Amino acid sequence: MDVGRPLDSPKDASGLLPSSLDLAAPTAGLLISHPHLDHYGLLPETPPQWPVYSGAMAGRLMALTAGIHGKVPVRDYRYWNSGEPLQIGPFRVTPLLTDHSAFDAYMLLIEADGKKVLYSGDFRAHGRKASLVRALMRRPPENLDALLLEGTNLGSEKATAAESELEHSFCTLFHRTEGRVFVSWSAQNIDRTVTLYRACLRSGRTLVVDLYTAQVLELLAESGRLPRPGLKQLRVVVTRTFVRLYKARGDEAFVERMAAYGISAKALASDHERWVIMIRPSLLRDFEQKGVRPTAHDAWSFSQWRGYLGQPDGHKLQSWFDSGMAQADHIHTSGHASTADLMSFALAMKAKRLIPIHGMHWDVAGAQFPNVLRLGDGVPVEI
Ligand SMILES: [Zn+2]
Ligand SMILES: [Zn+2]
Repeated sequence: MDVGRPLDSPKDASGLLPSSLDLAAPTAGLLISHPHLDHYGLLPETPPQWPVYSGAMAGRLMALTAGIHGKVPVRDYRYWNSGEPLQIGPFRVTPLLTDHSAFDAYMLLIEADGKKVLYSGDFRAHGRKASLVRALMRRPPENLDALLLEGTNLGSEKATAAESELEHSFCTLFHRTEGRVFVSWSAQNIDRTVTLYRACLRSGRTLVVDLYTAQVLELLAESGRLPRPGLKQLRVVVTRTFVRLYKARGDEAFVERMAAYGISAKALASDHERWVIMIRPSLLRDFEQKGVRPTAHDAWSFSQWRGYLGQPDGHKLQSWFDSGMAQADHIHTSGHASTADLMSFALAMKAKRLIPIHGMHWDVAGAQFPNVLRLGDGVPVEI
């Protein structure tokens, strides 16, 4: 289950698979809970004959990301449907769609030989799919032998407001701001894109996304009622650097298709329009060249983990907005459950054992959790 690349590991570092993982052992399949690199980033290092299971949309997002950094690994990909059990070797696996900042994220219920394990993957209970987590808590799997639980937010004071509350905050910001509102968020955080688009609809503004975000939305379009190029109050800014990138990859057709919903960076230079504009460091140069510069009438919102603001890319954005004296209003919520929600979830699952698998603060902040079995890396446990 999952082959994550530590987020703080150097990009080209290899040999990161734990030595306790026996690559030669017969392996029925590799289960990827969701398309975040700390859950699938070491996939290229696993034996190519291992089948890879995930959600279909998660598969598309992983392929998209791999395509940007090089080649998409040729593998035996198999896609599951939420709630439909699969027989994988001796294991019966039921993927359960869940609420997380990654799109198409799952918890995994694994049954074998009369035993039952639930892997939480990454989840939260305050996003747009929170009702799925609440429903599972109301009707948990019976007689769980073990719960493998993530604890990313243990010991942290990260904000865990609901996405719907964020929508309200963005609405207020959009109404209050005289000029444009620039927002920095992750293109693959679809909940946030939905939040921003809904806030635009409610406040009479138009959401302007970059080509990459448009590609993500187009890729996921068939999975439901998501914002996508072609809908009202949504435009795609066609910038030179991105166009060059897509053409170099042979994606000219995509660029041409997006031109129908496109807008030039130059058109965003006016602060009279009611734009909500996606901003990221890779857009700054093209924006500058076309006269898009922040002013004191504009606002900006860093809708990502605040820690990134302290890094070089964050500094770049910060000083760009400071130079124009734009108002800052950073609206964000965590992609992971709060400590309180983790505790409610753990109690609701009533598992015989709780095995921590993700998070740095289990030893202190996790001390109150029921039936914790703390394992060192590579230490086997018999269920
Ligand atoms: Zn994670
Ligand atoms: Zn994640």
